[in-house]
Amino acid sequence: MARDTGPRCKRCGRERQKLFLKGQRCYTPKCRIEKRPYPPGEHGRGRIRESEYMLQLREKQKARRFYGVLEKQFRLYYQEANRMSGVTGENLLQLLERRLDNVVYRAGMAASRSQARQLVSHGHLTVNGRRMKVPSYRVRQGDTVAVREKSRNMITIRHALDTAPASPDWLHLDRDKLEIEVAQLPTRAQVDAPVRESLIVELYSK
Ligand code: SF4
Repeated sequence: MARDTGPRCKRCGRERQKLFLKGQRCYTPKCRIEKRPYPPGEHGRGRIRESEYMLQLREKQKARRFYGVLEKQFRLYYQEANRMSGVTGENLLQLLERRLDNVVYRAGMAASRSQARQLVSHGHLTVNGRRMKVPSYRVRQGDTVAVREKSRNMITIRHALDTAPASPDWLHLDRDKLEIEVAQLPTRAQVDAPVRESLIVELYSK
């Protein structure tokens, strides 16, 4: 399963904003953006000519990095969003938001999306009672995501739950049972991705 293994803080630097890829560290003064809020490299602090294409490209890269999705997979998400009825940009964000690793993170069971991805791929979770090891699995309304019996005491999960912000309205978290119910599909207002999806649509529509 391919994934981006490069330095995560550099990805935030490239986008000049926090993408919260490293859990608790992102909320501390150790965060790279707190110290160096500019792109990496010799010319990082130089003036950047912001063409229309550049803005669109950066928005797409930001969304991709935020959800930890590689280029090819991201394009497939876009193509699927484009085939769906409704607003393509909102469809795209909804598809990304419905990924199982994102659901585990947003519910507070992991400190970051990459940690959630690892929990899923290592087989610590079930969906509707069946073990699920695919981070990109797309949840549906009414699905129940749960921590497997033998993983219930994992410190990673317990610590994440203790420090996580409240989960969004579309996910109902039962902290005692360690279960997440997908109460509804996310609306644009419930997606916290700091991206202007219309620019991504413009980029791919060329
Ligand atoms: Fe990004 Fe978090 Fe690294 Fe800060 S600490 S640069 S928010 S990944």
